[in-house]
Amino acid sequence: MIPYGRQSISEADIQAVVEVLKSDWLTQGPAVERFEQTVAHYCGADHAVAVNSATSALHIACLAAGLAPGDILWTSPNTFVASANCALYCGATVDFVDIDPRTYNMSVERLEEKLEQALHSGKLPKVVIPVHFAGQSCEMEAIADLAKRYGFRVIEDASHAIGGRYKGEPVGNCRYSDMTVFSFHPVKIITTGEGGMVMTNNLKTHENLMRLRSHGITRNPSMMTEESHGPWYYQQIELGFNYRMTDIQAALGVSQITKINEFVARRHRLAQRYNELLQDLPLTLPWQHPDAHSAFHLYVIRLHDRIDKSHHVVFEELRQQGIMVNLHYIPVHTHPYYRALGYHDGDFPEAERHYREAITLPLYPDLTEGGQNKVVVALRDVLGCNSACAGRYHD
Ligand SMILES: *Cc1c(COP(=O)(O)O)cnc(C)c1O
Repeated sequence: MIPYGRQSISEADIQAVVEVLKSDWLTQGPAVERFEQTVAHYCGADHAVAVNSATSALHIACLAAGLAPGDILWTSPNTFVASANCALYCGATVDFVDIDPRTYNMSVERLEEKLEQALHSGKLPKVVIPVHFAGQSCEMEAIADLAKRYGFRVIEDASHAIGGRYKGEPVGNCRYSDMTVFSFHPVKIITTGEGGMVMTNNLKTHENLMRLRSHGITRNPSMMTEESHGPWYYQQIELGFNYRMTDIQAALGVSQITKINEFVARRHRLAQRYNELLQDLPLTLPWQHPDAHSAFHLYVIRLHDRIDKSHHVVFEELRQQGIMVNLHYIPVHTHPYYRALGYHDGDFPEAERHYREAITLPLYPDLTEGGQNKVVVALRDVLGCNSACAGRYHD
């Protein structure tokens, strides 16, 4: 059985975790800050706040951006539900911007059109969350220009994209956004088991995020409403959460990030190899925007409609052969919870078309060329192209 993604854990990773387990601090110790500084340095951002998941990171990022009841957040429909749910946690409403048919990221043209309409109807978003699908950055410079023009905040959902680059610079440096969120779930680029992080260059935002991560509590006398009662004293000055990352997780993260460039390079080599081995098949292979160097979290193919098997059958036959392909993503607005909020089939046709055609092939650093060959043979077999496509499919 070959999964679509999985972690890569070394002996050094295991040793790093064991050391924390033998130390004085399992949580709220020095490893969390070390991990934050390491990631901030790697990305070229001023500040980083580690939390227990990207979902938590998106929640406190929205709160730090001032998202509140009555506000509107826009994101891509081609994402994991967490990119949209964070708006609802804050009591705001959520809407979507359809995707670009080449990158499968939020379309800048659709975004601009929708902003112009929203300006006239008085329903401009407070926050927009572009999602770097499969690890490929969105067109952030254009999005930042629109943010200035229409006055919204930008939070990048870079859950797929740590280790990726945009216009030659690391994703996460927040040059074109207010904050950037990473996920460290085991299928992502580097892992802490569960975990996430918010990057920002704004000191005030950093302070807000640190407080929201831990109950809304401050130990900073200048933030308090009265004189400190003594060395034990702290104040809760707003409603926060316990979204803290443990030192056990952070130590794993510090060890993992030493290999991030190697991981991303390996993902690129495997992606390049898929490109070569699949080029004659009736598929659309992942298109790469010249401004982006993807982290290649996912390798997503799209089936052409002239294939004589349905998408569903191709998917099932691959799974029957032990190739645990996946589908990214079920358009968020078509989930029952979102339908109940008023969304319908047909609202975001490019994302819906993507859902009807997309299949995620296995891709992770420990995937061997032999394993990858099995995926290719199975796919060629299912599409009836094993010796060659033999004129089976014509443009
Ligand atoms: C994985 C993922 C998340 C959520 O990450 P967790 O760390 O599991 O909370 C959010 N957005 C996207 C796009 C993701 O892929």
